[in-house]
Amino acid sequence: MAVFNQVDFDNHEQVVFCSDKESGLKAIIAVHSTKLGPAVGGCRLWNYASDEDAVTDVLRLSKGMTYKNAVARLPFGGGKSVIIGDAKTIKSEALFRAFGKQLERLGGSYYSAEDVNITTGDVMMMHKETNYVMGLEGKSGNPSPFTALGTFLGIKAAYQHKHGHQNLEGVKVAVQGLGAVAYDLCKHLHNAGAELFVTDINEESVARVVNAFNATAVGIDEIYDLDVDVYAPCALGATVNDNTIARLKASIIAGCANNQLAESRHGEILREKGVLYAPDYVINAGGIINVYYETKEEGYSAEAATKHVEGIYDTLIEIFQRSDVEQVSTHVVANELAEEIIANGL
Ligand code: NAD
Repeated sequence: MAVFNQVDFDNHEQVVFCSDKESGLKAIIAVHSTKLGPAVGGCRLWNYASDEDAVTDVLRLSKGMTYKNAVARLPFGGGKSVIIGDAKTIKSEALFRAFGKQLERLGGSYYSAEDVNITTGDVMMMHKETNYVMGLEGKSGNPSPFTALGTFLGIKAAYQHKHGHQNLEGVKVAVQGLGAVAYDLCKHLHNAGAELFVTDINEESVARVVNAFNATAVGIDEIYDLDVDVYAPCALGATVNDNTIARLKASIIAGCANNQLAESRHGEILREKGVLYAPDYVINAGGIINVYYETKEEGYSAEAATKHVEGIYDTLIEIFQRSDVEQVSTHVVANELAEEIIANGL
């Protein structure tokens, strides 16, 4: 299996294959860039169909973190790691400690954290072998409220850009997925007077939001056909695709989910249709911004983290304006902005 000629290889600084026979560890760590600081990005545990799939995922995700951290104006580069295996059977202290030893060997070029199937408890086990981990228990705490705040401000920025004001009173918002982030997002939206239409595969989560915020429950698939102002994807990736774009009536797409566009070309289709898309990695950076504040010498401050998260509003306004001027889609502008920040420094 070659790495250097993979389409997703983007001059990553390091791609490290790790294994440990006793614990069954098979992992890949990709450091895409340390230009702005140590590479930071979570560890994903996934039962990949092939090693090639794992390489593709880690190459893409680590580059994504370089861009996300740059646009969030964090002194972090981008990296990511994947552990290959079935989350139901492979987890053990030995596995995470073996992975922690591998992080230690990298000497701080990469800091790991939680991602899909990796909990704070798992990271605490890695931490027994290394300090090169972030998002630890008892430090910056749960990132979701910060991600929710950033997403809420992102919706306001989109509304301001589209309509010339940011009063969300009576604005109809469809929220897909009502997990950790979306619950707090719904709270912000409800307090701002927005009317909520919500869905989740988990009925209890739906009931919780319906009761707390006077939301209207809608079907899993119905969410795409609603006559609403804003569609907020907060569950899965790739929900903005050929099928859904044809159905969505919202003039703004702004939510916390990762990888919302099924393909890059969908960003351009949205622009041509006059739908304002808040690029996912810009609007959902609140969590990683919060984690950054646990690295501060003076100690973690929720106040400082909140202030930084509030900057997401201005960043999105800048992206929306540039998209209008340059006549290119917002996610392309976000990538340009990231590349400028990486080239010129923070
Ligand atoms: P979560 O697991 O708490 O919530 C996801 C919710 O989506 C769950 O309630 C789940 O039942 C629901 N869901 C799954 N499939 C669905 C479907 N087909 N239709 C409707 N609902 C469905 O996750 P979270 O932490 O709230 O994160 C939500 C999204 O935001 C994810 O894409 C995540 O990667 C992204 N994100 C989260 C953070 C964070 O701080 N937690 C930061 C950045 C990005």
